[in-house]
Amino acid sequence: MAKFQTPRGTFDILPEDHVYYSYLKKVCRHRFRQSGFRRISTPIFEDSEVFRQGLGDTTDIISKETYDLQDKKGRNLTLKPEGTAGVVRAYLEHNMDSLPKPTLLYYLEPHFRYDRPQRGRFRQFHQFGIEAIGESDPSIDAQVIYILHKILTDLTIRDRFALQINTLGNKEDRKEYREALLSYYIGKERNLCDDCRERLKKNPLRLLDCKNEDCQILASLAPKFEDYLSDESKQHYQDVKDFLDELGIEYQENAQLVRGLDYYTHTVFEFWDKTEGAQNAIGGGGRYDGLVEMFGGNPTPAIGWAIGVERVINHMKEAGIKVQNKNHLEVFIAGLGKVAKQKCLKLLADLHDRGVQSIGALGKPSMKDQLRQADRFGTPFAVIIGEIEVKEGTAILRDMATGEQEVVPYEDLVDVIIECVGEDNLDTADFLVK
Ligand code: AMP
Repeated sequence: MAKFQTPRGTFDILPEDHVYYSYLKKVCRHRFRQSGFRRISTPIFEDSEVFRQGLGDTTDIISKETYDLQDKKGRNLTLKPEGTAGVVRAYLEHNMDSLPKPTLLYYLEPHFRYDRPQRGRFRQFHQFGIEAIGESDPSIDAQVIYILHKILTDLTIRDRFALQINTLGNKEDRKEYREALLSYYIGKERNLCDDCRERLKKNPLRLLDCKNEDCQILASLAPKFEDYLSDESKQHYQDVKDFLDELGIEYQENAQLVRGLDYYTHTVFEFWDKTEGAQNAIGGGGRYDGLVEMFGGNPTPAIGWAIGVERVINHMKEAGIKVQNKNHLEVFIAGLGKVAKQKCLKLLADLHDRGVQSIGALGKPSMKDQLRQADRFGTPFAVIIGEIEVKEGTAILRDMATGEQEVVPYEDLVDVIIECVGEDNLDTADFLVK
């Protein structure tokens, strides 16, 4: 029989890793909620056109990295490679443009990119992202960057990253700059990598962030975008920097940062790994003032970012951060015989109702085996109910670490156990709607 494995570039998230996912979700949600962001989920796949038009069909993601499929009716669908295009589609589909602006949304979703798998690069990965739609004020640029900065601070990994920022100006600035780049690269094509020769035809701005060494040398001598920026774009950028200064956020201006997608305008930013740079960026984003209009809406400025959950978790592990979790089993319940098992089952249900994390009540034939099982689960306490205890209406409560045992009346068991476990360690359902 063939042994099945996860498809290349994908991974299982095992319980010990979910502890990190849950923690990260909690930390992000806390900061998002504080700033007025509300959660949105869009489907895992969309009409392929959503991404092709949204991201631009010359971008790496669209030209090489999408998972495309056809359904039974021949519709072209694409697994989402990023979050923004789907959110903007939903924003328009649900007339969210009538909501107060900025409309503040966040998502936590799996994304899919058919990339060469390597460390920190998967074919299915998760992103946390936010979008602030409907506001052009540079203060909102600083505010959304601040949220990411704050989350990394909360996670105690901020020092591992350097914030890179740049401006891509507006559409007109870009058009002029594009022309300038095209003239600069005339006659230099043969020194470029294959990808860049292609990019030159379709999206010359992308030549600036190529990782190839020769391309980088050429890019460093290319015309500077700042010489083509309009006064309005310069002012926007200056304001963003002033506001970041005000918030005490350090940044490095990086004229080569263009991000991979066509929809960006004005501010773009990325948090780079201090040791590995862009290769292992943890997240990034920027303004996309043209996207809503491109999808058929009214002109609507917007800005957002996304972080890669797996990369964040990897950094937390590297930094030796241990996260608290509520998965601590306290009691194993062992019983001998059917009547004892019935008592055990009832006890288990009562313990759960009061918030004690407990398992057992399986009534296996050997008490020794059951206690060994308790040992393997590492519960600090075990309850033992044998024939004698059934007759006497009692149970034995065993401290698994010391081996000490006491006989407790069955009806007092739950209270006695809670005293041993401690009120602070209870897992109660205070969140349930009453
Ligand atoms: P991007 O918008 O492409 O810059 O992606 C934002 C963040 O998502 C990146 O900085 C990474 O942390 C994460 N990310 C992007 N692609 C992948 C991938 N293939 N595998 C894992 N994480 C990814």
